[in-house]
Amino acid sequence: MTLEHSRAARLAARASGRNESELERRLSDTSVTVSVDPNLPGGLDAARILVETLRRQPLQLHLDEAGLPEQWVAETGMACAAIDDSRPLVVGRANGLAVHIGVEERASLRVIPDGYGARLRRTGGLRQSRAANGLGAMFTAALAAAELFKDAAEVLPTRQVRQQRLDFCPVTLSGDLESAPELASTTLEVGLVGVGAVGTATARILGTLPLTGRVLLIDPEQYALENLGTYSLGTRIDAETGRSKVALATDALENFNAVPFAGRVEDALGLIDSGQLPWPRVVLSGLDSVAARHATQSLWPDELIDAASGDTALGIHEARDGGACMMCFFPLRADGASALTRLVDATHLTPAQLADGDRLLAEEDLDDLDEEHRELLRPHIGIAVCGLAKAIDLTVGGDDRYLPSVPFVSQQAASLGVGRLVARLLGVEALPNLVQYDALLGPQTLTALNVPPVAACHSVTNREVIDAVRQTRRRLAAPA
Ligand SMILES: [Zn+2]
Repeated sequence: MTLEHSRAARLAARASGRNESELERRLSDTSVTVSVDPNLPGGLDAARILVETLRRQPLQLHLDEAGLPEQWVAETGMACAAIDDSRPLVVGRANGLAVHIGVEERASLRVIPDGYGARLRRTGGLRQSRAANGLGAMFTAALAAAELFKDAAEVLPTRQVRQQRLDFCPVTLSGDLESAPELASTTLEVGLVGVGAVGTATARILGTLPLTGRVLLIDPEQYALENLGTYSLGTRIDAETGRSKVALATDALENFNAVPFAGRVEDALGLIDSGQLPWPRVVLSGLDSVAARHATQSLWPDELIDAASGDTALGIHEARDGGACMMCFFPLRADGASALTRLVDATHLTPAQLADGDRLLAEEDLDDLDEEHRELLRPHIGIAVCGLAKAIDLTVGGDDRYLPSVPFVSQQAASLGVGRLVARLLGVEALPNLVQYDALLGPQTLTALNVPPVAACHSVTNREVIDAVRQTRRRLAAPA
């Protein structure tokens, strides 16, 4: 067992409720065949991400080459070998699990990218309403990988929803894949803070959208072997040579003028205020500590979208002028509230109802709740209550225990983050500033809230100072 797969197995074991060696064996014994209709717009892009994502797990991976361009098959094989040359991509079909990216019934699980989102079917008709873009391709690959993982790992039925039919758009946060308009070519002054499991997926999506301008990349770390199993970018050679993570993101963002800063966001602040680094007006972050989120808020951009994943949960927090900021979303926990206390707060269930994690949430549990909390919990009936914390506790990223995720979780977090950016560029208003769900339950169970600023919000009480800082940065950023 290689180092990076052992790490992936540990993460996957927690997600599936099985022990690590048993799960490792299950995954290693599972064959997955991917097929794709090359004429489906966006199909090959989704297939490429899916195959690479699956190669980061210890599965036996097969590619059905029927109908595919020879060169594409060769390039995809090379991309897999660069990630893990001990488990080559096998060309041809195998018995076992199968997924088809296309509308034809070539596998029991079918997915297609559609616009910014994805459609998934196990039975019934499937139709693409419009050409897909890079966000749709990433989201489709992530949903497919999640379904394959549930089967390969035999995730306990009480911890998952096995999707039969799902349509979801990460821009509109609904099953409506047709209403978000096409994105016109747009120039941005953007920042990407944190190039980890989420950040690499974010970079990969941004690199495919019709966006241009300048991107400031901030991350102090170098790519390492343990990142191979959890990131959406990077090869074994990148790990062995210790490439900086900002260099990896730079490669994925050819459409931008990239300014890589291989340091901490705390250290970038001074350089921005002295005009040595550009001031990003829009920031996408993917971070693993509360302190780093607070420092990122101190960039004081117009718009900050923080995407996070932890274990199998994922979500976004969006900070805009006048709304809740990162200090509101992620308070330093002086009160030491326990996970159970927070869950009682969030759900209004009693500690007794939540005490036994294996107990399934029942219709009767909702009897004493108000309508709002009934709505919140209804999608979770029949699912073990231990999953509620991940789905509803709203603290993904809010504690500093490092709980990295399998890639399909981080990819869905990144999809929500970029989806929100797209929504704002399209002028979509009235969106919740907090969105969260558990990747094993699916986006149809998402929790969406409008969180107001806390009473003593840092960004409200320090309004004048922040305005002065923003004024200075705006002046520095003005063309000479
Ligand atoms: Zn605040």
